[in-house]
Amino acid sequence: MLKGKHALVTGSTSGIGLAMAKALAGQGANVMLNGFGDAGEIEQIRLGIEKEFGVKALYSGADLSKPDEIEEMMKMAADDFGGVDILINNAGIQYTALVEDFPVEKWDAIIAINLTSAYHTTRLALPHMKKQNWGRIVNTASAHGLVASPQKAAYVAAKHGIIGLTKVVALETAETGITANSICPGWVRTELVEKQIKARAEENNIPVEEAAKNLVSDKHPSKTFVTPEQIGQTAVFLCSPAADQMTGTSISVDGGWTAQ
Ligand code: NAD
Repeated sequence: MLKGKHALVTGSTSGIGLAMAKALAGQGANVMLNGFGDAGEIEQIRLGIEKEFGVKALYSGADLSKPDEIEEMMKMAADDFGGVDILINNAGIQYTALVEDFPVEKWDAIIAINLTSAYHTTRLALPHMKKQNWGRIVNTASAHGLVASPQKAAYVAAKHGIIGLTKVVALETAETGITANSICPGWVRTELVEKQIKARAEENNIPVEEAAKNLVSDKHPSKTFVTPEQIGQTAVFLCSPAADQMTGTSISVDGGWTAQ
């Protein structure tokens, strides 16, 4: 379905982003990976995608908290791919503390990586999308883009912000073949969440698996984690012709969390 399209997935060296990159490659899209990690492991991931799906996979190590590195990454996509047809803004970090204890540098980093980076990639990707009158922008927001939890001020602010950004981009491109949508996952058991599970296990002096079960059951009526692959297939759907008239929306994949 996506043969000949070029996708950039930020924060795709692990977790949800990697699953989204694989899901798009599974539909024939060439993909540019981005994110941090061990150079050898990232190269194995890149080669693995090329081999498994028969597509071209590139990697940019751009630090998305730095606008000049984002510009370099987008230039690489323009030079090597001719531009980004499918932009998935997914890179994200988490930090938990009460507002009055929230370290200023953590606030700045979360807003820069989880929100501002999407503004930069979007503004740099849109001219190519407008020229060809087709494009897909998919932003990984969160259930925390719709509702709040204590101790997550920066994350919740950034995720509510990215849903707002998505809506504006959707309106500004409404008469074109470009769509912009957010996906709002509930709990997905990735590295980002594993840290929160371990902290909960230590705090309550309980085994990690019990802490995981408690964590998911607190929020998901389904009492079950969402998988990265389910988010990957949601992104594929948003890139399909069936979603041509879906724009500016937020799709919850959260086991019923935000239905309550
Ligand atoms: P993860 O930690 O596995 O992945 C985060 C990715 O972002 C990694 O590839 C990491 O290298 C990259 N990254 C971090 N800082 C970066 C930077 N400065 N520059 C470039 N890349 C950077 O976590 P995940 O759970 O897969 O998170 C992916 C996205 O999904 C995030 O935006 C997160 O907020 C969102 N999300 C996660 C959950 C969940 O339960 N896991 C729920 C809702 C939303």
